[in-house]
Amino acid sequence: MTRTITLIPGDGVGPEITEVVKKCIAAFHLDIEWDIQQAGATVMHEENTPLPERVLESIRKNGVALKGPVETPIGKGFRSVNVQLRQTLDLYASVRPCKYYEGIRSRITNPYAIDLVIVRENTEDLYAGIEFMEKCGEDNPLIRFLKEQKGVDLECDTGLSIKPISARGSERIVRFAFEYARRHGRKTVCAVDKANIMKYSDGLFMKTAEEVSRRYPDIPYSHKLVDNMCMQLVQFPEKYDVLVLPNLYGDIISDLTAGLVGGLGVAPGANMGDGFAVFEATHGSAPDIAGKDMVNPTGMLLSAMLMLQHIGETDAARRLEYAVATVIREKKRVTADLKNEGDRTPAAGTAAMGEAIVEKIREG
Ligand code: NAD
Repeated sequence: MTRTITLIPGDGVGPEITEVVKKCIAAFHLDIEWDIQQAGATVMHEENTPLPERVLESIRKNGVALKGPVETPIGKGFRSVNVQLRQTLDLYASVRPCKYYEGIRSRITNPYAIDLVIVRENTEDLYAGIEFMEKCGEDNPLIRFLKEQKGVDLECDTGLSIKPISARGSERIVRFAFEYARRHGRKTVCAVDKANIMKYSDGLFMKTAEEVSRRYPDIPYSHKLVDNMCMQLVQFPEKYDVLVLPNLYGDIISDLTAGLVGGLGVAPGANMGDGFAVFEATHGSAPDIAGKDMVNPTGMLLSAMLMLQHIGETDAARRLEYAVATVIREKKRVTADLKNEGDRTPAAGTAAMGEAIVEKIREG
């Protein structure tokens, strides 16, 4: 039966990298049909919103989407398209695998053993948007409340951000991490937070993670404080497998781990919930190189690889990853950012690198 997948080309370099993905996936002759839905700055003028309802309807119908980067118009009162997608479709887990591919520049002396997955909670924490501006010269009920109820005397020029972390939100993200580990043959799960300082938010996350871990005796579980984890990841990244974190730490740590294996240009990602999954590269629309045939398609191709795994096309996923890894390792037809420093041979354009990957898929 034909499988329909929503494809959002996006803005800037988005159409160039989605074109490469379409060609690579076509090389597998799978029964996949793309439901192409434009979103972002591209449709703003015509539809007066960067995320038209038809895009959401398409994802609801198809269950799975592959998305290019989209720009959210700044200062025009629109919510971020990515935030809106996550909230509307309840995509509560951000999944960022982080694996080193030979040939990519890394500052780590032994990056070869790095193969971990960040599972970041996507809906709570300091990202919930519960914020209060500093306000002097008039009554500030929250500051008054904190003084009366908690005995905390804050200056009126203090801004406040609230950090909500619930047992339900923690339970489902940790369960997701363990289920992901089981499904993908991962060996361990480590929960990361700052439970020693924020006892009622991170402390609740830690307590819930421990409880959930008991339901998965086959997968060894550990816990680390986030500051220690930063050091561990720089010194011994090969020791870690699946990491599960609240929103803010997940955001920061996933960029750190992307940096370990070569940066955002090569990092894939997915936003997933119980009903829907949206796969996308972690970089933005790169307007400075848009339309110049310079963008590295790796992040988007590896996101497509995750999507193929998700829909059960595991053989195609494995072959796509192998083809991408081989082209990167050979370094003959790769974009400029993948070339070694001092390498004077010409870089390939985005389309030519895509062609090289299609050839590898066909070869084997
Ligand atoms: P960016 O990731 O687009 O670019 C940062 C720098 O990295 C640029 O110099 C760019 O040329 C380079 N770069 C990024 N991806 C690359 C690739 N694959 N190959 C080669 N070079 C690459 O970040 P930004 O400039 O902060 O954001 C630009 C726009 O993208 C903004 O409007 C932002 O809101 C949007 N954005 C969207 C998403 C998303 O949709 N998931 C994510 C991040 C940013």
